[in-house]
Amino acid sequence: MKIKVEYDKSGYQMGLQFTGLKRCPHCSIASPNYWRVWATTGYSPHTDNSADRLWGAYHCRSCGSIIAVRGAPSEGQSGSSWLNIDAVFPEAPVAHDDLPDAARRFLQQAYETLHAPDAAAMIAGSAVDAMLKAKGYADGSLYSRIDLALKDNVLTQGMADWAHSVRLGSNRPRHADKDSPHVLEEEARQSVDFAEALGNFLFVLTARIERGIVAATTKSPEA
Ligand SMILES: [Zn+2]
Repeated sequence: MKIKVEYDKSGYQMGLQFTGLKRCPHCSIASPNYWRVWATTGYSPHTDNSADRLWGAYHCRSCGSIIAVRGAPSEGQSGSSWLNIDAVFPEAPVAHDDLPDAARRFLQQAYETLHAPDAAAMIAGSAVDAMLKAKGYADGSLYSRIDLALKDNVLTQGMADWAHSVRLGSNRPRHADKDSPHVLEEEARQSVDFAEALGNFLFVLTARIERGIVAATTKSPEA
């Protein structure tokens, strides 16, 4: 990652403002604007011979959450008023490459719309829908497909219950429910968490295990 941030040359401190992230990892707003709340003066003291680094904590102007930023001048850059950022914590979530394409794209969009809970809940529902379709459950309503996947032991009872609650959450804004059209931020986050967990369970973990088996069986025998 090559994001730059100003730093005060006299104090070797990260600058007051930090921009350059695509999205806030907490609220997912695009092009977030961060203000410094704390920073090391000079390099963070350490004894392990690792590279010298500056640290800073910044708060998001949109959601108020804090990110930690780590950086150091790159080689030949000493004296520059810019700093290369080599890590930001927490990282913005990225939908896993092992997910089927449609599910991965829906899940990524759900991550990126968490600041708009109605949209995030609907898209999380679409991600769950796409995952079941990729597992061969393509016919009928999402309701019946969740139940069929439960009957086939593709989903556990707890996962099926959670999937139904995500389905109901995504239906409320989609059909502008008369009594409760909107989804709370916490509900949207739970829906996105479930879509992520289901993706891990159905695809990511399986792919990882398959790769592990291949690696184990193709390894040359121990002498
Ligand atoms: Zn934010």
